[in-house]
Amino acid sequence: QRPQTLTILGATGSIGASTLAVIAAHPEAFSVYALTAHSNVDAMFALCEQHRPQVVVMSDGQAAQALQQRVKNAQLSIQVSTGTDALCAVAAADDVDTVMAAIVGAAGLLPTLAAVHAGKRVLLANKEALVMSGQLFMDAVHQSGAQLLPVDSEHNAIFQALPFAVQQGAGRVSLADHGVSQILLTGSGGPFRETPLSELAAQTPQAACKHPNWSMGQKISVDSATMLNKGLEYIEARWLFNCQPNELNVVIHPQSVIHSMVQYVDGSVLAQMGQPDMRTPIAHCLSFPERIASGVAPLDFAAMGALTFNAPDAARYPCLQLAIDACWAGQAATTSLNAANEVAVAAFLQEKIQFGDIAKICQQVLDGLALPKVQSLDEILACDEEARAVAMQQMSRF
Ligand code: NDP
Ligand code: MG
Repeated sequence: QRPQTLTILGATGSIGASTLAVIAAHPEAFSVYALTAHSNVDAMFALCEQHRPQVVVMSDGQAAQALQQRVKNAQLSIQVSTGTDALCAVAAADDVDTVMAAIVGAAGLLPTLAAVHAGKRVLLANKEALVMSGQLFMDAVHQSGAQLLPVDSEHNAIFQALPFAVQQGAGRVSLADHGVSQILLTGSGGPFRETPLSELAAQTPQAACKHPNWSMGQKISVDSATMLNKGLEYIEARWLFNCQPNELNVVIHPQSVIHSMVQYVDGSVLAQMGQPDMRTPIAHCLSFPERIASGVAPLDFAAMGALTFNAPDAARYPCLQLAIDACWAGQAATTSLNAANEVAVAAFLQEKIQFGDIAKICQQVLDGLALPKVQSLDEILACDEEARAVAMQQMSRF
């Protein structure tokens, strides 16, 4: 059997590194066609030496030039290109079987959609792409026959615990028809789960990025601290699994051993457990429906101690409810919320606004929303742009 050929969008990131680690342990099973990044030339050059992709895309033009020079000096035969069209081209190339969609944020939408339209096996980490474009994204999956596999640990856990018919149904079948009564999304509560409420607003980027259980990129780390990450995941689950409002719930589980659960009408609850290490869901997606080793140590139940659960506190995590409300309000709301959050998180990381301002900016952008009908890709991109402009405006008042 020939190896599965891959494009990794966002190869220099946290998910990119975990993906390449799993692949490197199974050289007979996988071969890298293309790697992409934004501007990190040093990291990409190291990946080029190790993985020898045929094509590399740096979305930043200057970074592409610098990388090209280094590749040439090292006499590596790698084609280097730049721009969104080049990202879409490596996601849709005939030579590619599987695309790992691991760009962070809205920048991942067009290349991920290109992979979907080309009918690839799409491993989805880039939840923002699905949150931005929900129905359009899922319609494209159905039209092209792309195989969509969830990398996000919660959605991967849910996927594993769902009945076969629902797994095969690609977000089209009814959960209730297959005996599923509820999907329970678990979340750790992030680094500020026990911080006194009065101290929350002034937390630093450094504190926000120190997740108790997971090591991740900066943006998703901040999202975990506000729990907007769980909100984005709620929206992601709605689309991936075709959930109705009463079929989706969030539970705090500080130990991050259970990665999510599926409850059935007969009272059974199936949970997927594992270390908080993304190599497990990544390996699951890469090899599905088979299983391969991921390099992750097995859970040690004798040493584990208690697993606890409780409901999220609305006062501590205002962003979570914003996202849940946006989910059922329509596409304009979720696209705008995602955009506002990206702007706010970037500003927070640059210490231009306070931690507590992130929720305020998201709320203000959603409050100002006229809720126009947003359906086509052009409408989605226009809505994203508009929400970013409003968020910037709100921010200038802080
Ligand atoms: P990182 O910040 O670690 O990596 C982001 C990657 O995207 C890098 O390769 C980066 O390139 C590239 N990138 C950044 N901006 C752009 C842009 N404008 N255009 C093109 N490429 C860009 O993020 P993570 O790996 O943590 O997360 C990636 C995605 O996976 C996110 O959507 C996140 O929500 C999701 N996810 C992550 C998890 C995790 O454990 N990390 C868990 C579940 C989901 P460069 O290095 O050059 O900047
Ligand atoms: Mg997750």
